[in-house]
Order: sequence, then C-alpha cells, then structure tokens
Amino acid sequence: MNEFSLIDQYFKAVTHKRDDVLLGIGDDAACLKIPKDKELVISCDTLVADVHFLSTWDAYDIAWKAVMVNVSDMAAMGADPCWLMLALTLPEADSHWLKRFSQGIRDALDQYNMALIGGDTTHGPLAMNLTIHGLVPEKKAVKRNGAKPGDIVYVTGHLGGAAQAVYLLNEPNVNSADRAKLMQKLLHPQPRVDFNPYLREFASAAIDISDGLSSDLNHICTASNVGACLELDQIPIHPVVVQSRQDAIEFALQGGDDYELCFTVSSKNEGRMLSQLAQANMNAYAVGVIEHTPGLRAKQKNGLIVDLDIRGYSHF
Ligand code: ADP
Ligand code: MG
Repeated sequence: MNEFSLIDQYFKAVTHKRDDVLLGIGDDAACLKIPKDKELVISCDTLVADVHFLSTWDAYDIAWKAVMVNVSDMAAMGADPCWLMLALTLPEADSHWLKRFSQGIRDALDQYNMALIGGDTTHGPLAMNLTIHGLVPEKKAVKRNGAKPGDIVYVTGHLGGAAQAVYLLNEPNVNSADRAKLMQKLLHPQPRVDFNPYLREFASAAIDISDGLSSDLNHICTASNVGACLELDQIPIHPVVVQSRQDAIEFALQGGDDYELCFTVSSKNEGRMLSQLAQANMNAYAVGVIEHTPGLRAKQKNGLIVDLDIRGYSHF
C-alpha cells in the first residue's frame, strides 16, 4: 500500500459531505466557502504516541481523542466545529490499525457534522497533528482576556475523572470496579460544544480544561490581568474520584484531560444564563469569583483563604 492508496482507502471515504467544502481531499489544498456573517476560528493540536496516548490503545480511541481535543478548543471559543485537517505520521501501513483509526475519525466527525478536508501522511514514529476549523457569528468568539473583577467563575462539569484514569493506568493492581467508567472519561471525552450558545451570549472569558482547573483558570487570569478565588467545596469532583481518594480536590484542581470548560460571567448576566441553562436542562457550577489581585486563591471549608499552587500538566 503506498501513501496515495492509503489516503484513498482510509481517509477519502471517511469524509462527511458538506456543501461548504468546495474542494476536499485529493487536490493540493482544500477550498471552503465561509459565510459572510461568520468568523473563521482555527486551532491545531499534536498528539504523540506515549506522551498523549499509549500506542497500545485501540486506534479507534486514539482517533476519537485526537478529534475531540481539537473540538474542545472550538468549544472554548464558542465556535461550531466544521472542518478538519489530519497530518499523520505512521511507523507502518497496518491495515487493521488504519481501519480502526479511520472509523474513529469518521464517528467523531459525524457527531458534529464535520468534514475531513485534507491532511498529510508521512512515515515515522506514531504521531498526529490535527487542525480544526470552526465558525462563530461575527464578534462572538469568546476569548481568555475578558474576565473582570466580580465575574463569577463557572465550570461545566465534574473534574478529576480523567486524571484518576491516568493514575489507574499506572496502578494495574488497584481493583476498581469504576476503572471502565473512568477510562471512558479519558478515552472518549465529550467536548462541551453544547455550551456554545450560552458562552457566546453570556461569558466574558472561557478556556477548556485540558491541563487542570488551576492551571487553565490561571491562563484566563493572566490574559485578563486579574486573579481569582475558588471555593474549594463548590468544585464538582467526579464521584468515583471522591469515593476513591482523600486528595480528590487535588485531582480536580490539577488533573488534566477532562475537557470540560471554565468560563466567567458577570453577575449582571448570571441570572439570565442560569435560567436559560435550566430551560435546556443543562447545568453549570459556580466555583469562585474573579478578583483584582493577581494570582489564584482558594477558600477552604473553614473560611480560611490560602494561595493556590498553580500546577497543571506542562511538557517542559
Ligand atoms: P501534496 O503532495 O500536494 O502535499 P499529498 O500527496 O500530501 O499532497 O496529499 C494528497 C491529498 O490527500 C491532499 O488533498 C491531502 O490534503 C490529502 N491527504 C493526505 N494525507 C491525508 C490524511 N492523512 N487525511 C486526509 N487527507 C489527507
Ligand atoms: Mg503533502
């Protein structure tokens, strides 16, 4: 199988048809029709074997995760994911692996009606770089730099589950009935694009939680030139993590890979947002408040306020 038959067999067929793809896989570049009243939002992520995923994982899961971490960046901007480019480096052309991988790409793309519009295929140690393109109504992209003192800090769901799954990967002897449930959190994250309409309308800043709440909220604070104080007992922690470890709060604060969102809302907008979320049967959790003073603090149960260690995953 050469590079071109590989692309034809596994990637050309994958792609969902979208009317706005004027030219997709097969030419020197893709060509897209961008609606006049929208802005194009672009992001890329690289996943390297044995850094971001284990090469022993089912290729389906690797593909799913690779797409979803990119979709999560769109969700963090309030953008609808539309098109994907896939640059793939493979140690060999293993047809079983490629079949599972392309199925994972297809199913992940189908979930959002996205199209694979091109990429690159090279030989080398297993790694992939995905570039995602999304659309947001003009001037509605939600950035990191809009948080103001007094804004309320929200998260969209329970934290720490994916970090506990990573912990269990290294502890094969820990008997946990919840292992499968947690692996699902790690392997099949569900980016929160369902929050797009609410973020666009109400959020002053947003980020996706890929490295851990403390580290990612700190990015919002740095970009917005503010600080924040978290109420530790308000942070929603994955129930299995609460049950299985005393330091559950550390996992919720510092564990990455959950791909929930952290966003800020002015107190003026908060009520309207909450009632709209309730109408849609959705929930977000208020976990703290933005303050003038730079840095992150945490209010403990006993009311004591302590400086928060800003640690999250960092490659270097
Ligand atoms: P070129 O040599 O012009 O860079 P390539 O031979 O790399 O073109 O790719 C041929 C076509 O296949 C291009 O349209 C490219 O976008 C697409 N393509 C290559 N690899 C992939 C892949 N892994 N997934 C999807 N499309 C791909
Ligand atoms: Mg090329």
